Amino acid sequence: MPFPDHPRRKAKVRHESGQRGTGLSSAGAARILRGLAITFEEEYDCAQVERLMAEYTEMVSRGDDTASLLPLVKYHLQLCLDCREEYEALLRALEITI
Ligand SMILES: [Zn+2]
Repeated sequence: MPFPDHPRRKAKVRHESGQRGTGLSSAGAARILRGLAITFEEEYDCAQVERLMAEYTEMVSRGDDTASLLPLVKYHLQLCLDCREEYEALLRALEITI
């Protein structure tokens, strides 16, 4: 291993102390969680869509209901030309394989 895993060890210690109530206050944690939830509810960014792209494309090729399974990916593909081009290329490649 080229690097010692100090950041990971530090994060684990912080998490454990948080569980004992000496770390992050529960109000602070709730605010962070709420912030994340709002971000995820609103829309995905390109990186998130890219991570789900293969799965999404497979679902489409299987005829799954992507509008209810991955609505945010579908939504993003309608807005983002870059991701849509990548998606269409993937879909084409998948259809050729099938
Ligand atoms: Zn995008």
